[in-house]
Amino acid sequence: MIKNIALVAHDARKQELLSWVRFNARSLKDCTLYCTGTTGKLTRQALKEILGKNEMPEVNCLLSGPLGGDAQISAMIAEGKVDMLVFFCDNLIMQGHQNDVMGLVRLASLYNIPFATNRSTADFIISSPLFRDPDYTKIIPSCIDSYKNRKLK
Ligand code: PGA
Repeated sequence: MIKNIALVAHDARKQELLSWVRFNARSLKDCTLYCTGTTGKLTRQALKEILGKNEMPEVNCLLSGPLGGDAQISAMIAEGKVDMLVFFCDNLIMQGHQNDVMGLVRLASLYNIPFATNRSTADFIISSPLFRDPDYTKIIPSCIDSYKNRKLK
């Protein structure tokens, strides 16, 4: 079951993310959202317009991505606090915080997080029966334990 969702969109793709948020507002209402700063402010506004303030999910705004927000979400993934990541990055330009972008992608992959980099994938994940299945728990890849217990000379 997916409860904690992280949302990040670069400026060129913020409208695309907001459109996804509006389309899926009802599915997001029981989740807790963790967003980079500007993405979070816009997401909160978009959800409020659709759901009204009584049905609003918790929307937590972290730092703006270039100021450390992506790194905060990476740390949350490593701590097991994120169940799903929607990360719409600008594929046409390099970011000043490109290292943080790559770090976020690496950790989402390492920790086996359902991870969408485009709208269709995000729609497929959120509409999966597993999204609401309380019995579904994500497998933590064995390489993590192997790494923790590796033998050093
Ligand atoms: P922002 O950050 O939501 O604060 O714009 C997104 C990013 O660039 O990672």
